[in-house]
Amino acid sequence: MKKINRRQFIHCSTACLASCLAAPILEPFGVFEAAAAADIRGKVFKGGAPQKLWKWSHEGFRYKKLKNDKVICGICPNRCVLAPGDRSVCRSKVNLHGKLYSLTYGNPCAINTDPIEKKPLFHFKPKTQTFSLATTGCNFRCLNCQNWEISQARPAEVAAYVRELFPADVIQAAQKSRAQSIAYTYSEPITFFEYMIDTARLAREGGLHNVWVSNAYINPKPLVELCRVLDAATLNIKSYDDGIYRKLNGGRLKPVLNTFRTLHEQDIHFELINLVVPGYTDQEHMIKAMCDWILENIGPDHPLHFIRFFPRYKLDRLPPTPVSTLSRYRELALQQGIRYVYVGNVARHDGNHTYCHNCKKLLIERQGYFIPTYNLEGDHCKFCNTRIPGVWHPASTGPDMS
Ligand code: SF4
Repeated sequence: MKKINRRQFIHCSTACLASCLAAPILEPFGVFEAAAAADIRGKVFKGGAPQKLWKWSHEGFRYKKLKNDKVICGICPNRCVLAPGDRSVCRSKVNLHGKLYSLTYGNPCAINTDPIEKKPLFHFKPKTQTFSLATTGCNFRCLNCQNWEISQARPAEVAAYVRELFPADVIQAAQKSRAQSIAYTYSEPITFFEYMIDTARLAREGGLHNVWVSNAYINPKPLVELCRVLDAATLNIKSYDDGIYRKLNGGRLKPVLNTFRTLHEQDIHFELINLVVPGYTDQEHMIKAMCDWILENIGPDHPLHFIRFFPRYKLDRLPPTPVSTLSRYRELALQQGIRYVYVGNVARHDGNHTYCHNCKKLLIERQGYFIPTYNLEGDHCKFCNTRIPGVWHPASTGPDMS
């Protein structure tokens, strides 16, 4: 496996400003057909488990035992059925002697303290730091994965970069870093559910918020369990088309939409990410249909981020998304009625800033992760007193503008 250092892992968050690589050829639907991700449900790694457990093994949550020592994992819609010696689709779980084990409990492969804006979360405690961590593993196979070096790896393959941090250690490290939250991010936290939820419970007790950055491909019961300790989330809507979900990501759309509905019902703040991939997810009718669904099901107040695609992983021959496309879709979404629509991975764009949905005045100006202008008082617009959706600093303190 290609060796990369931890800095490279961390650099690759979904929302980071990717470098603009030359892209010689646009082959939209040619690549689409040639580079389709397989439907991964049921595609477990037969005989892929290690011979014995290691220090960072933990019995899985929410699994059931079946006949002949098989087990079924109930965390995500892949519902892996593993015979003894098998490894899961997400590569993080194994069946040893008739029990399901996670192999990523306490061994993050990436740790960093990030601005909360990097997740991106624009309506949640601006200008705070979030202690971010990931283990290996993902329940998708996105052709354009930004973090494939860790998401498509087995835990032992990045062991050289592991820093041991059990849940109590994470809380201590986060507090030491002066972060106000812990973000489960970079890879797919659903695959390290056991580690995430134990850490999140302790974080709550320690006065820290929990932030989940995810593809939202999770089953309802573990989701409700997670919601009890969750403060905010950045959730991907990869496209509004089940066929594209299957081909580009290896998953399905419906469970993702169900996750949005549940978080909305649970009154948890979340922001939506839509990566606009040329030739795959950049069709106007799909963007319109997605906005219609959002408005009808979860309302106008969840911020929506259109993110610029840069060539990466198996889609390294596609060009970056034209900025004009992102601007157009931002306008479209605003016209349809979504109140806060952003453009990500494009510097110095109007869509980087927050404008009051009522009086349209500038509330938060962003220059990268720097915020030179902040015009909220508590959770209200300073100019017209409209309540702005999100989780904000109390009026008495405000963000640290130093
Ligand atoms: S979390 Fe991993 S092991 Fe569990 S069902 Fe999903 S892909 Fe399979």
